[in-house]
Amino acid sequence: MKYKHLFFDLDRTLWDFETNSKQTLIEMYEEYELEKHLSVSSEQFIKSYKQHNEELWNEYRVGKIDKDYLRSARFLRTIEEFGVNSNELAEQMGFFYVSKSPEKTGLFPNTIEMLDELSKYAKLHIITNGFDEVQHIKLKQSGLTPYFDHIVTSEHAGVKKPDPAIFEFAIVNSGAMTNESLMIGDDLPVDLLGAKHVGIDQAYFNPTKKSHQEDVTFEYQNHLELVDWLLDR
Ligand SMILES: [Mg+2]
Repeated sequence: MKYKHLFFDLDRTLWDFETNSKQTLIEMYEEYELEKHLSVSSEQFIKSYKQHNEELWNEYRVGKIDKDYLRSARFLRTIEEFGVNSNELAEQMGFFYVSKSPEKTGLFPNTIEMLDELSKYAKLHIITNGFDEVQHIKLKQSGLTPYFDHIVTSEHAGVKKPDPAIFEFAIVNSGAMTNESLMIGDDLPVDLLGAKHVGIDQAYFNPTKKSHQEDVTFEYQNHLELVDWLLDR
């Protein structure tokens, strides 16, 4: 196989963020008896949370608010929408979410089959934008840790994808060469254009077939397609 080092993104590439998040929110809905307190269905609760979460993430990305604020404010705004104004409840919900969600184990179809096969031919690594502790819990709980030689988080590297420095950090750390490396991820500007910028080939995991104009080395919808493509190289 041409590629000796495969660098994977974690969230939404291997670890099924949407499914795991939804499961956590349903557990929260039951734990805090939100049907009773908010008079709302779990679907409405999740829909409202997603809207507020997205708005607050946009503010977080441009540096308007910090992570601690984001963590409880997304729940405060949600419960306020249903007539409950309690900072204390919102903080408890925020804590529940950040402690429970990383323990969820939902992976994309064929993730383990892919890693089993590819680990016979190449070294596997992770490059993830996220916090050390949280990302390591996800990897461990979902049984992924043993597959990876090097796990680079943005917290550890001090910079986030698509900053070239995090890819260079990962390459140097793992003893890889750029021309024998491949970056696999779901986020076109962050994972793939970032890698391309430093001369690393890219495989775009695009399960929902989002349309785009970028030129990537390989694009696919199911992890078994990546295995087939790699074994031909
Ligand atoms: Mg991702």
